[in-house]
Amino acid sequence: MITLAVVLCLSWLVWTLSVVWRHRQPRTAVAALQPVLVAYASQTGSARALALQQQLALGGPAQASVMPLSELVPKQLSQVQKAVFVVSTYGDGEPPDNGRRFYRELQALTAASGHSSNGQLFSSLAYDVLALGDSRYPKFCQFGADLYQLLARLGAKASLPLQTRDQQQAAQLTDNPWQSWQLAARTRLNTESQPGLFQLRFTCSEPLPCWRAGDLVAIKPDNNEQATVRRYSVASVPADNELQLVVRQQVTEHGELGLCSGWLTLTAEIGQQVNLQVVANPSCYINEHQAPLLLIAAGSGLAGIRGHLAERAQQAGPGPVWLIYGERDADPNQRLHSELALWQQRGVITMFDWAFSRDSEKPAYVQDVMRNKIDEIKGFIGVSGRVYVCGRYEGMGTAVDTMLRTALGPEEYQQFVAQGRYHRDLY
Ligand SMILES: Cc1cc2nc3c(=O)[nH]c(=O)nc-3n(C[C@H](O)[C@H](O)[C@H](O)COP(=O)(O)OP(=O)(O)OC[C@H]3O[C@@H](n4cnc5c(N)ncnc54)[C@H](O)[C@@H]3O)c2cc1C
Repeated sequence: MITLAVVLCLSWLVWTLSVVWRHRQPRTAVAALQPVLVAYASQTGSARALALQQQLALGGPAQASVMPLSELVPKQLSQVQKAVFVVSTYGDGEPPDNGRRFYRELQALTAASGHSSNGQLFSSLAYDVLALGDSRYPKFCQFGADLYQLLARLGAKASLPLQTRDQQQAAQLTDNPWQSWQLAARTRLNTESQPGLFQLRFTCSEPLPCWRAGDLVAIKPDNNEQATVRRYSVASVPADNELQLVVRQQVTEHGELGLCSGWLTLTAEIGQQVNLQVVANPSCYINEHQAPLLLIAAGSGLAGIRGHLAERAQQAGPGPVWLIYGERDADPNQRLHSELALWQQRGVITMFDWAFSRDSEKPAYVQDVMRNKIDEIKGFIGVSGRVYVCGRYEGMGTAVDTMLRTALGPEEYQQFVAQGRYHRDLY
């Protein structure tokens, strides 16, 4: 009996140490590199899709390796002859989450270059940077531009001037085909007193494409070939046999509905054909379903949350899921409440906090809930927990990020990001 207890204790100790060790290691191990490397940093999948196209254009996998910046350490660049960087810019001119650690390490190498031979560290490296951004922002393609300069300061030779591309064009350059889907149903999830939030269901007579929770779809408003695409987070999984979206009506300053959200939520007839393209977004995939999962969203961010709940529901023995979700109005008659209550009843959501910003008694945003539960959040995330955040970047996305930094502390926060446990679908 005592022997059995000792064996069990030792097994538990070995398992715990292996989990801790695994999660403290930055993901730096790489396969042997081809002479040409295509490295990408992608927040919404566009840069990854372009990187795969670049790989094909450079002769395919036999000639060019492709990998996210999260799996690359700067010194490995001295092993390749040429590196092509395809990088998005995120937030206020920052790198996407899967490029942050690489960028910090490159900055540190550059800072040290004044005191050492780092100034010529990459003297045998040729490179190009293809930067993606949104031209409406003043820091358009800022991360790509910074990367371009840092590499030059470390001795690498640029083959071309910095290439920039507007994200609206990039969204059209993904590997999946456009398909015709039928708008099968449209349900209002909130009350009339707020800007409409609608659940849309689409069916397709062709074989369904593959997609996963975390992916996006691109839509041309009103099926107009000339219109700039809009992207939406997928709210279902293929096992649902339908593609779901959750769309918030955008109201312009003149009080009109936005072009695409107005079409999808009001003017498109039920039964109407809608051209959709599924856009892979691997930075939002959650692969470890036994680990705790903290989901945070507000408003239309429900879309990505719903996709992940549907994926989690298919797993055997899934880990705990804590949802923190914000909407304006506390009215319990909203469809939103019954939709989320269903996931709770099924046991997929194990902990749930609402935040209602227009509540007359206790107005709160998701970040207020986080502030009040900061120690619980740290404990819940632990060494293996994952966090997925979906919704608006301004306001919610930035405030949630600040709260996570506070909860985890600067060093643990950096490790958590570098380990790819922070997934953000923010817009
Ligand atoms: C990764 C991602 C995921 C998203 N997920 C969701 C989601 O799940 N649910 C949701 O409701 N929304 C989501 N959005 C927002 C969505 O893509 C639209 O921006 C939103 O629906 C408003 O579009 P609209 O056409 O109705 O509004 P509009 O006001 O007509 O347009 C809004 C934006 O579209 C672009 N645009 C409009 N006209 C033009 C033009 N002529 N040329 C170039 N650009 C133009 C501009 O960026 C403009 O600010 C997501 C956005 C991104 C980037």
